[in-house]
Amino acid sequence: MKTVLIGVGQAGGKLTRALVDFDERMEFGAVLGAVGVNSAKADLRELPFETVLIGQDRVKGHGVGGDNELGAAVMDADRREVLSALDGSVTAEADAVFVVAGLGGGTGSGGAPVLVRELKRIYDVPVYALGVLPGRDEGAMYQVNAGRSLKTVAREADSLLLVDNDAFRSSGESLEQGFDAINDAIARRVGLLFASGEAVEGVAESVVDSSEVINTLRSGGIAALGYAAAESAETAEGNINTVMSTTRRALLTGTSLPEASKSDSALLVIAGEPDKIPRKGVERARRWVEEETGSLQVRGGDFPLDSGRIASLVLLGGVERSDRLEAFMQRARDAATEADEAEAREDPADAWSNDELDDLI
Ligand code: GDP
Repeated sequence: MKTVLIGVGQAGGKLTRALVDFDERMEFGAVLGAVGVNSAKADLRELPFETVLIGQDRVKGHGVGGDNELGAAVMDADRREVLSALDGSVTAEADAVFVVAGLGGGTGSGGAPVLVRELKRIYDVPVYALGVLPGRDEGAMYQVNAGRSLKTVAREADSLLLVDNDAFRSSGESLEQGFDAINDAIARRVGLLFASGEAVEGVAESVVDSSEVINTLRSGGIAALGYAAAESAETAEGNINTVMSTTRRALLTGTSLPEASKSDSALLVIAGEPDKIPRKGVERARRWVEEETGSLQVRGGDFPLDSGRIASLVLLGGVERSDRLEAFMQRARDAATEADEAEAREDPADAWSNDELDDLI
């Protein structure tokens, strides 16, 4: 799937860079172009692609400091500059545009929904978002921002692929220390998804193409991505159980949104050397995904990869009903209520309501 990436805010920019690096390192060529957008000048400096500084007249390059309403306002005011930076990248070759952002901050949280809406007005290709949820021990502001942003992005985008920072966190590390590793883990999964939707010449007909990724995400709402890999055996026969066990791990313990296993649709991609991929194992794993997700539409295909490993990648479309998401929305509502009460104590006339954080569905 040939993709154009726009990283908004600090997390968005860093994650976009990790995606570009992975695609280059693997020589996939699935990322057609990338742009970084921020209201904080310092965060743009390290990005090795075109960047756009927004909100200069209001925040003078210093960022919006976690104020996502200001993030939305500066994106809206400077949207033309952002769109013109993209102009050359979204060519006829492009299958999709991805807006990448941390949902808990200010610029990405507020700016991403505005940008998604604008892009949808202009381009015919699907406009997706890759959104990062704050970890559970980040402050109340992050949770409230993310709750609001998530709802708006999920409504505006063709699909919101959600990544929970807690899903990739290793023990004993603070979230900040772990960001680079988290970004690499996300880039590997999402980068494989982009690449697996590419037609590969001269290999078996069971290869995935971009329309299957797009159709899996067609139900809209929220999507998640699972991944697990293991050492490949010498023969396809020897990999039957491997494909089953990596698929189980990908879905049960390896998703970007933990505990999201009920979905409207799914796509199972098995990556590895073509002659080591067992047809029987793939078919069995696909049926298992069908049962486990309760989805009647499980697409499947191979991704030929010159590697000593076998990997299962499971894309889930329509995971709104997952327990983890409900738990997160509750966390965001609680944080909003707390903020609301604190504000009411200070200035009773100024308290805001958290109606916007009602249930997703
Ligand atoms: P913005 O620049 O105002 O959009 O704010 P940030 O991008 O810093 O957003 C803050 C949120 O993103 C918090 O929930 C952080 O946990 C998360 N975050 C910040 N940097 C990274 C990163 O490099 N990787 C990941 N996965 N999350 C990040």
